[in-house]
Amino acid sequence: LVIYSNFPLPQHHRLLDDLRVQRGDVLAKLALPASDEPIHVYLFESEERFDEFLEEHHPEFPARRAFFVESDTRLAVYAQWGERVAEDLRHEVAHGYLHSVVRSIPLWLDEGLAEYFEVPRGQGGVNRPHVQLLLERLLKQGWRPNLARLEALDAAGDMTQDDYAESWAWAHWMLETDPARKQLLQQHLDVLRRQGNAEPLSSSLRRICPVPEQALVEHLVALGPRL
Ligand SMILES: [Zn+2]
Repeated sequence: LVIYSNFPLPQHHRLLDDLRVQRGDVLAKLALPASDEPIHVYLFESEERFDEFLEEHHPEFPARRAFFVESDTRLAVYAQWGERVAEDLRHEVAHGYLHSVVRSIPLWLDEGLAEYFEVPRGQGGVNRPHVQLLLERLLKQGWRPNLARLEALDAAGDMTQDDYAESWAWAHWMLETDPARKQLLQQHLDVLRRQGNAEPLSSSLRRICPVPEQALVEHLVALGPRL
């Protein structure tokens, strides 16, 4: 990580030290090879300076507190040093670590994994606000997961909060329930890394789990509050 800021930051800041450790966590969890490609992280002290910067350099971006930009030559993260900076940085830097090894990742999976890794260490990747949102949709609004639908999304601007939550749920279910699912996800990423594209997970998953949507719903219910 190469950190730039427009305000003084201590040499060792706990959050920044944790972010450095996160590279090993991300790559080990996904069984990806080590990478030492730098991730450039630009931190802005105030919202005004951040907005000014965005307006000047990325006027096409929607208003957000942080973002990740991949170009042909570098991986960079821009963020405001605000109340939610820890979560924002864990999310955006996770994109950086992932892209330092796998150049081309389906949008839903990229976001689902970033939502998984934005959770503080030691919480098993359980993104509580997402669990709550999806259970509410499930129980009161008849929502059902649909991986093939997520796989068809190709513009970040088209992803709703529900899509982020569902993407997280698939990532969490694959990584934390059954070693065979985790292995399938790891193999999927390995093929993407080597070939740039891969068979959609919605179809390869069915070989090891006939009705993954049902299994995902059961997983969410198990993560919810005890009734
Ligand atoms: Zn993201």
